[in-house]
Amino acid sequence: CGVFGVFGVPNAASLTYYGLHALQHRGQEGAGIVSADDGVFRRIKGDGLVTEVFDEAKLATLRGDMAIGHVRYTTAGGGGVENIQPFLFRHNTGDFAMAHNGNIVNSALLRTYLENKGSLFQSTSDSEILAHLIKKETRFRDRPRIHAIVDALNMIEGAFAFLIMTANRIYACRDKYGLRPLSIGRLGDGWVVSSETCAFDVLGAEFVRDVNPGEIVTIDRQGLRSCDFSMYKRCEMCSMEYIYFARPDSDIEGCNVHAFRKVSGRLLYEESPADADIVVGVPDSSLSAAMGYAEASGLPYEMGLIKNKYIGRTFIQPSQELREKGVRMKLSAVRTIVRGKRVVLVDDSIVRGTTSRRIVTMLKEAGATEVHVRIASPPMTNPCFYGVDTSTYDELISAHKDPAGVCREIGADSLCFLSPGALLRAGNRRELCMACFTGQYPTALYQSPDEANRE
Ligand code: 5GP
Ligand code: SF4
Ligand code: MG
Repeated sequence: CGVFGVFGVPNAASLTYYGLHALQHRGQEGAGIVSADDGVFRRIKGDGLVTEVFDEAKLATLRGDMAIGHVRYTTAGGGGVENIQPFLFRHNTGDFAMAHNGNIVNSALLRTYLENKGSLFQSTSDSEILAHLIKKETRFRDRPRIHAIVDALNMIEGAFAFLIMTANRIYACRDKYGLRPLSIGRLGDGWVVSSETCAFDVLGAEFVRDVNPGEIVTIDRQGLRSCDFSMYKRCEMCSMEYIYFARPDSDIEGCNVHAFRKVSGRLLYEESPADADIVVGVPDSSLSAAMGYAEASGLPYEMGLIKNKYIGRTFIQPSQELREKGVRMKLSAVRTIVRGKRVVLVDDSIVRGTTSRRIVTMLKEAGATEVHVRIASPPMTNPCFYGVDTSTYDELISAHKDPAGVCREIGADSLCFLSPGALLRAGNRRELCMACFTGQYPTALYQSPDEANRE
């Protein structure tokens, strides 16, 4: 998911619309914006892309110089319009809205605890739990809300970037492990907060700083104020943000995503060179890594695959029968480029292996004589509990097969993965979350991986 917020800029909802549009790659299943205007909160949300949910007339109704928004990618809680954020809560201590990226791993426990204490949940999304915890902790009108937020954040375990908007403030919070990104920018006399910095460039905002792990940044008329809700702090940014999820023009914790991928491609070549004629990347997320591999190897970087950008969610997908007749919607091999060539095919990751198998077949049908697959991340052997991959052990091909087995399965002439150490070096970092590759989860899981697999 992606979150975006604006404080102290006229037409905040319209700016949020553009911000969310720049974060569209983080979630295509739903979008929503809540604006605040002198304590009056207004909300519009719906299924689909940002451009499908909003139009000018709708945005004009979202008055005010504060707004937060969300693009949704379904993980925990499932679909349904009641699960589209931001959530809006009415309360006698003041209304508030909330948007969340990530996943709370102790949500089942907390939900039972809260329901036993009388909470009625509107959605199955675990993000709603934080709101109930805040409400519980805001029992007295004179208790500053920040104290309630600190207490609530200390009860939840997992990965999060939270935006909480009250009548006159936005609170921007990040989990103490630093798993999900969240950055602050300056726009005119106001402020913007975003899952990724690419949205700042779109709006002409200037990057100020990242929200730190375990930190709450309060944004109001007085400017920015910082408060730590936890003294336990790690810097275990999700490595998949760099590998696949984020946009190449974003900087995450000071490292540009394209630059990271390019170095990872260079290191991939150093670890696993291939005897070949050309290097081809799988559009779009693997192109940076393919460039790095090509540059390091001295082999020409070629556009051997083309992606059709116009596959909307509503587009009719070909049936199995039509697919077998060769109707492939998303990717096409460029015959005149790959014919008679030994191809190094660079991709960002293998999850189920179906994409790689299809592309290898496609390249061979287009006349490639050999296809050497190079993956710019390690074998994915474990599910993610932090809001990225929904894959279970059963679906993860590398959880059941070693690289040689995967290579046979996808029909490649050779297959190599990047090492975890190289990932750290690509980001010039000491720590990254690599749990889906190593099984070393930074948090407690509150369920055994077997239980998770049965969900
Ligand atoms: P698969 O191996 O499952 O057929 O496909 C893996 C490819 O899907 C990767 O190249 C990646 O670009 C793309 N992909 C789409 N969604 C995700 C996701 O949530 N996580 C990962 N790791 N890759 C994804
Ligand atoms: Fe990211 Fe993998 Fe960690 Fe999940 S387990 S947060 S996908 S690195
Ligand atoms: Mg891909």
